[in-house]
Amino acid sequence: MKLIIQSIIEHLTLGFLFLYTHFMNQVLASPLIGKTDPSPVEVLHGNKPSDMVLVCEHAGRAIPKTLGSLGVSAEVLNSHRGWDIGAEMVARQIANLLEAPLVIQHYSRLVIDCNRPPLTPQSIPFESDHAHIPANIAACQSEKADRVKAIFDPMNAAIKRLFETPRRAAFSIHSFTPEMDGKSRPWQAGFLTRASLGTAESLITSIAKRHPELELAINAPYTIDNETDWFIPHYAETLGLAHCLIEIRNDQIDHPEGAKFWAELLAEAITELMESLP
Ligand SMILES: [Zn+2]
Repeated sequence: MKLIIQSIIEHLTLGFLFLYTHFMNQVLASPLIGKTDPSPVEVLHGNKPSDMVLVCEHAGRAIPKTLGSLGVSAEVLNSHRGWDIGAEMVARQIANLLEAPLVIQHYSRLVIDCNRPPLTPQSIPFESDHAHIPANIAACQSEKADRVKAIFDPMNAAIKRLFETPRRAAFSIHSFTPEMDGKSRPWQAGFLTRASLGTAESLITSIAKRHPELELAINAPYTIDNETDWFIPHYAETLGLAHCLIEIRNDQIDHPEGAKFWAELLAEAITELMESLP
């Protein structure tokens, strides 16, 4: 009888330990990205033998369910603060037209900006164009590290994998707001680079030939910087590729016809550039 009771106690103890370990694993793992959240990264044409890699880091405006709304309004999230309006539509069409690999990142840059070096002050911003982001102000270091691990790292790994195949060019597709701090931005598109000026000039020449009415600029409305960029400094410049970060004003591409217009224009310009490369 004593042995039976002892055996029951041992089994109950083991059962409790199993349940406790299982529960703790669940708690410790508590994934930032749940089963019903979108995957952070999508790769289009990943196996195509293309000369180039395309990236759209600010494509999406998803927020992991565990983070709620980040404390921001839908208006802020849906504006240029939350994502690059129209950039994904353009990037997808360029990738399809050129059969080029494209990395698309689905989470809002208010969760983590995937075009910033991870854990630098702008990576998980406290504010964006005068809108505060309460959940980011409150986030501790380990919560920030979770976002890097769950969102930035998979995107970065996807980009890294694509560069295991030798490439000759890299382009990143973004959009910008027509007005910032009361100043209007006249350019329909800007071509950002500091180490591949010839690429920006070639793209502009090609587009201007077809549409001389467009106002195009080099290094406007932004410039490439190690603090505020990731893909261009970390990959395109380091690998010595022809490259450009292409910024399109979002009123040009916030509708399907506009996105199609710019995708076709850029695909033609990129094709001309690629033909001219040694
Ligand atoms: Zn952007």
